Amino acid sequence: MSTVVLKRTNQKMPLVGLGLWKIPKPSCADTVYNAIKAGYRLFDGAGDYGNEKESGDGVRRAIADGLVKREDLFITSKLWNTFHAKEHVHALAKKQLELWGIDYFDLFLIHFPVALQYVDPNHRYPPEWWGDDGKVYLANTTIQETWTAMEELVDAGIAKNIGISNFQSSLILDLLRYARYEPQVLQVELHPYLNQQPLVDFCKAWGIAVTAYSSFGPQGYIELGMDKSAASLFSNDTVQQVATATKKTPGQVILRWATQRGIAVIPKSTTDERLAENLGNLKFDLSEEQLKSISGLNINLRLNDPVLIDPRLSIFA
Ligand code: NAD
Repeated sequence: MSTVVLKRTNQKMPLVGLGLWKIPKPSCADTVYNAIKAGYRLFDGAGDYGNEKESGDGVRRAIADGLVKREDLFITSKLWNTFHAKEHVHALAKKQLELWGIDYFDLFLIHFPVALQYVDPNHRYPPEWWGDDGKVYLANTTIQETWTAMEELVDAGIAKNIGISNFQSSLILDLLRYARYEPQVLQVELHPYLNQQPLVDFCKAWGIAVTAYSSFGPQGYIELGMDKSAASLFSNDTVQQVATATKKTPGQVILRWATQRGIAVIPKSTTDERLAENLGNLKFDLSEEQLKSISGLNINLRLNDPVLIDPRLSIFA
């Protein structure tokens, strides 16, 4: 199994994709192109990553060279917090499509359940979390308003599938009460140090596919100085033992722990070697005991939390 079938559209979402956060603009087109060459079909972007144009350049080059067709690819993007109001959702999705140079997203997500004051893209793009004075300005747009506008993207053919990111179960339950189209995917931080089992069980019960971000835990946060000095998962004893027993790399073991349970992963990498290594996680199986031993590493270590930006944004409290 290398895909997960999404509710409503029955579209197949690849279980392994390439995460585009922090891929530097100058090398981004080449990275995307090389990933397509290596067999990647899903790309996880966002307005906030600031590299949608470069990602699209890589996609268009691969299509022009005959490596793939647009319909072979699964392109995900996300709506940023400053654009939650209904009058901005459509305009931003269109702007993001233009940057990518494509005419639909396979999946469009609400990036965070946090509405911030609008920032005109002509003034600053991506706008990030802060106003010009370095302060965070909240907006009063409800998730219902934003979700209704997301549903209109489906009606307009702009997004085939829609979903949410960084949402907890009680907010999802509320969304399900008014949704005309249920969210098909929840993307959350998920790794052996934060196994999110209750949320994964909740999503299973509702038929919502789960995508894990930051699968390697602290590794992706070292360059930002946000790793909380947590020990590397790659050198963890349990991960190492399973890697030795299966003759796979620690990275493959960490990714397989998710994909074998139907959880999609989007590891970020820029080297051909690691791109191939990460995609290769689908080619072996862990035993039930091995899966359990890795799940047992959970210490509820959350690295991506807007509370670090502003205490009013403690959305995981
Ligand atoms: P990640 O867990 O993918 O780790 C990336 C780091 O691991 C990089 O330093 C990379 O060089 C290294 N790495 C990659 N493959 C390796 C391997 N096989 N062996 C050793 N090291 C390896 O971190 P991430 O970038 O935080 O998460 C992945 C993607 O998830 C992002 O690019 C983005 O698309 C998405 N994401 C989404 C959100 C959200 O709010 N929805 C938040 C964070 C990340």
